[in-house]
Amino acid sequence: MNPFEKFDTDVFSTSAGDLSITFLGHGSLLMLFNGLKLYVDPFGKVADYTLLPKADMVLVTHEHFDHFDQQALSSIRTDKTLLVQTETCAQQVPGGIVMRNGDEQTVAGIPIQAVPAYNLVHKRPDGAPFHPKGSGNGYILGLGGKRVYIAGDTENIPEMRALKAIDVAFLPMNLPYTMTPEMAADAAEAFQPRILYPYHYGDTDVHKLVELLKANKEIEVRIRKMA
Ligand code: ZN
Ligand code: ZN
Repeated sequence: MNPFEKFDTDVFSTSAGDLSITFLGHGSLLMLFNGLKLYVDPFGKVADYTLLPKADMVLVTHEHFDHFDQQALSSIRTDKTLLVQTETCAQQVPGGIVMRNGDEQTVAGIPIQAVPAYNLVHKRPDGAPFHPKGSGNGYILGLGGKRVYIAGDTENIPEMRALKAIDVAFLPMNLPYTMTPEMAADAAEAFQPRILYPYHYGDTDVHKLVELLKANKEIEVRIRKMA
């Protein structure tokens, strides 16, 4: 059986050949680019990673179980896999390349920017944000001249609203941990990604986002199976 057939894949042309993005579910993606297999936030609930190809690179946004699943990670990780992760994740899985908010690094020829991902509004009953500032990362990848932004678990923070020249954006929507459709639409109106994928959306009605951005002809909202 073809391990990809149960997932949707979109293909983009770049100056370095095709970029294909397979939507594994929730916060998890598989990108094929320039001979490399790049995973984002592997999560065993959405896919059987033992059936998927080994990773050249894995990017982990933060340590929550739905993003940092050590069993899924070990199914795709080899001695050669480059693991890009946060400090908190590195306390559990030592090694790899630790990136902090604001860091920029080229890994396997791919320029990577780690950007902030945190809550301003949504907090736990004890008042602590679900995602405290400085802990988690979003990542902006430069893939053959295309800039792909994977937001991680975050709200429409000022650093997101100030982003420039994003070709493809993944924005999380699910409550109470990340954004409402209104918050995601606010962010998108501010930084104007060319293509916007809501992801990590759980039970949130993604069509609300489509509705909110209907009048904006600059942004193409694409809905894929990323609950
Ligand atoms: Zn989280
Ligand atoms: Zn999450």
